Amino acid sequence: MIKKIPQYIEPLFRPPAEADSLIFQVALGCPHNCCRFCGMYKGVRYHERPEQEILGEIAETASSFPDESRIFLADADVMHLPFERLYRYLEEINRSFPSLARINLYANARSILAKSPEQLRMLWNLKLNTLYVGLESGSAEVLSMVCKNETPQTMIDAVKLAQSCDLKCSVMVLLGLGGHRYRDIHIAETVRVLNQMQPRLLSALRFIPVPNIKMPPEYSEVSEYEAVEELYQIIAGLELTKTVFRANHTSNPVPLAGRFPSGKPAMLAELDVLLKSNQLERKGPGRKPFYL
Ligand code: SF4
Repeated sequence: MIKKIPQYIEPLFRPPAEADSLIFQVALGCPHNCCRFCGMYKGVRYHERPEQEILGEIAETASSFPDESRIFLADADVMHLPFERLYRYLEEINRSFPSLARINLYANARSILAKSPEQLRMLWNLKLNTLYVGLESGSAEVLSMVCKNETPQTMIDAVKLAQSCDLKCSVMVLLGLGGHRYRDIHIAETVRVLNQMQPRLLSALRFIPVPNIKMPPEYSEVSEYEAVEELYQIIAGLELTKTVFRANHTSNPVPLAGRFPSGKPAMLAELDVLLKSNQLERKGPGRKPFYL
């Protein structure tokens, strides 16, 4: 039998934790595509693929891979889809994959808030599990500088709403996004917002200016040492009661992982050793990730 796999159109992105998931690309690109720090979909015109095509693809793929248990829906902010359409996709996935454990996707705060608690609960009942939410920074100044079309408060509200409906939020922050100008406020406000959100999952990536983005003139890239120092200060300020933390993306100078609250002292101790060593570049950005 010829195995049918879903149709993919490049570029296709997914979080590192979704490496083993089956992916359905239900829309192409990003419905916002405005953030100055993000080059993911800059060359892609956003559009939602036809519903019948997606429903057929789900059923066909299931006949080849019926035992898949983890599904990821791409591309960016799939929560932006109208509720009814998203609901039908989740229903079809539940019907087609008997071993299904979870469906995960990227979600922006405004798209979460556009759904009612009842709708979010209905999606959770269809095994929608983890929403990947890019906070990037808790600072309104930094979000405005990089044209992220969200406010710290909308993001706090969205994560709280989703988690009150039993959905897990995996929140991402970007070290160095404030540059030198907004460094202190980026750290302080990111800590404040995360402490209010209490996300179940948290990851810190380092902001790397990739060639196809246009950061504003006031932005100046922090050094490798400063990026690790930011991570230290953010972790030191966090008072999280039940969060799994990861900073193991290839953009990070060193991989770090732990759980809050129990793992906080060990993570700080590890970073302290690193900061006191001579391993980190103090004047430049240091080693670039493999994809640059
Ligand atoms: S950060 Fe997210 S919302 Fe902003 S342009 Fe990139 S994919 Fe779109």
